[in-house]
Amino acid sequence: MNNLNRREMMAIAGACGVTAMFGASARPALAAATLPELGYAFNALEPYIDAKTMEIHHGKHHQAYINNLNNALADFPQLEAMPLEKLLADLDGLPESIRTAVRNNGGGHLNHSLFWRMMKPGGGGARGAIGQAIDSTFDSFENFQTAFTTTALGQFGSGWAWLVASGDKLEVVGTPNQDTPVSAGKTPLLGIDVWEHAYYLKYQNLRGDYVKAWWNVVNWDFVNQLFANAKG
Ligand code: MN
Repeated sequence: MNNLNRREMMAIAGACGVTAMFGASARPALAAATLPELGYAFNALEPYIDAKTMEIHHGKHHQAYINNLNNALADFPQLEAMPLEKLLADLDGLPESIRTAVRNNGGGHLNHSLFWRMMKPGGGGARGAIGQAIDSTFDSFENFQTAFTTTALGQFGSGWAWLVASGDKLEVVGTPNQDTPVSAGKTPLLGIDVWEHAYYLKYQNLRGDYVKAWWNVVNWDFVNQLFANAKG
C-alpha cells in the first residue's frame, strides 16, 4: 500500500473505481458513483487556489459529472459495476447511446477524483522517486516544468495537462475537455485542470499565473503512489 493507507485507498476506489491504478482492491458492486471527500478544507490551498473556487469546483462541477455519469449508467447495471477506468479504457466497447456521456462525465469523475489528491496544503517539496524519473526523462525538473506548462497553456479551450506513464516511459500530454489519458492506454500520474472553472474567480484570464502558483500545492507523495502502482 506504500504511503496510501487502506482507508484512503478504499475511499478513492469506492468512489470512482480506479482499481487498476490502486491495485487489487474491492469495489462495491453495483454502487453508483459518489463524490469523494476533498480531504482538506476548501481554504487549505490558499493563497494559490481560493476557497470559493474549491467549494464550487468540488461540490458543483465534480458532483455534476457524477450525477450525469450515474444517469448514463442507470440502465446498464453491468457497466456500473465495472471499474470506471475500465469503461474509459475501452470507450468503443460502450453502447453508442451512452458513449459520449461516459467519456465526458466518467472522465470528469475520474480526472477530478485524482486531481483533489494530486494537491495538498503545503505541497511542493521533495519529489522522491518520481523526481528522479523526471530528471532522467526530461534532463531536469525545470525542463519538465516547461513542457508541462507549455502543454497546459497551449490547451485551446478546456482540458488538462498531464504527466503520464506510457509503458515504462514518462510523457507529458494534453487532453481536451474531460478526456482522460486512460482512454489512450496511459496512466495519469500528475494532472492540472485548465478549465476556466478551475481558476477564473481568482486568476480570470491569467491561466499562466494559475499554473505557476499550482506547483506550490502539488502532492508529490500521491504522485509517487501512482507512479509505484503504474510500475506494478
Ligand atoms: Mn474541473
